[in-house]
Amino acid sequence: MAKLEVNDLHVAIDGKEILKGVNLRIREGEIHAIMGPNGTGKSTLAYSLMGHPAYQITAGEIFFDGLNITNSSVEERSQMGMFLAFQYPVAIPGVSVANFLRMALNARRKVKDPLDKGISILEFRKLLNEKMQLLKIDPAFAGRYLNEGFSGGEKKRIEILQMAVLEPTIAILDETDSGLDIDALKIVAEGVNTLCNDSMGVLVITHYQRVLNYIKPEFVHVMIGGKIVESGNADLALHLEEQGYDWVREKYNGNSN
Ligand code: ADP
Ligand code: MG
Repeated sequence: MAKLEVNDLHVAIDGKEILKGVNLRIREGEIHAIMGPNGTGKSTLAYSLMGHPAYQITAGEIFFDGLNITNSSVEERSQMGMFLAFQYPVAIPGVSVANFLRMALNARRKVKDPLDKGISILEFRKLLNEKMQLLKIDPAFAGRYLNEGFSGGEKKRIEILQMAVLEPTIAILDETDSGLDIDALKIVAEGVNTLCNDSMGVLVITHYQRVLNYIKPEFVHVMIGGKIVESGNADLALHLEEQGYDWVREKYNGNSN
């Protein structure tokens, strides 16, 4: 059974249809990549999968572990084990990376069990140290403050660390935004490669092929005009790098509206 199953998903924003029938199946431990030109609906898919309320599902269904989650809240999905690389938290004065991550973990535990008292500071420190070691992150990083101004690479490091702490079974990484420098890309890729195992599947969404030089997806999908129009293995990504998206567009006569 697929961990995440998307059937004929149609999504509208402000009444405008953006996703026009997306089908996708991700099993445990698989790495999938979705590529496509700007404005074709990749981020819309990421947010819809996570249950963002601005994205109206007008048709189709999403299943997670065989349960229909089409109408589930973000919290419910997160508690079930889905993870969407978070939006960089607004600078909160006096909140360290470690505290932020502990709050994130406790929020998750609270959804699971309203009586949960949260992980103790000691226990969390142990967990975080383990994860930082695994990801080869300098322990000093945990003590940095969120309002200190992180570089693109450091933001990615927080993101990957958050993923390691929350241990999702499906992680969705939308790498389209902000011009990621090569160091940031490598941090994401190494993190994904380290954390992705038999029990964690990953969906990497990207405009640029270059992230796929470091993450080796088993499945590559191309999204044009709100639909996945082509699927293949890692060779498809290479082909797209050489040929661009025009051939796919022509093949399907798609457009981004
Ligand atoms: P991609 O991630 O592939 O670049 P998006 O999913 O961000 O594409 O956008 C797909 C389409 O949805 C675009 O035409 C964009 O203008 C529109 N869109 C995205 N977000 C919003 C929004 N919050 N409100 C209105 N339109 C949006
Ligand atoms: Mg996007």
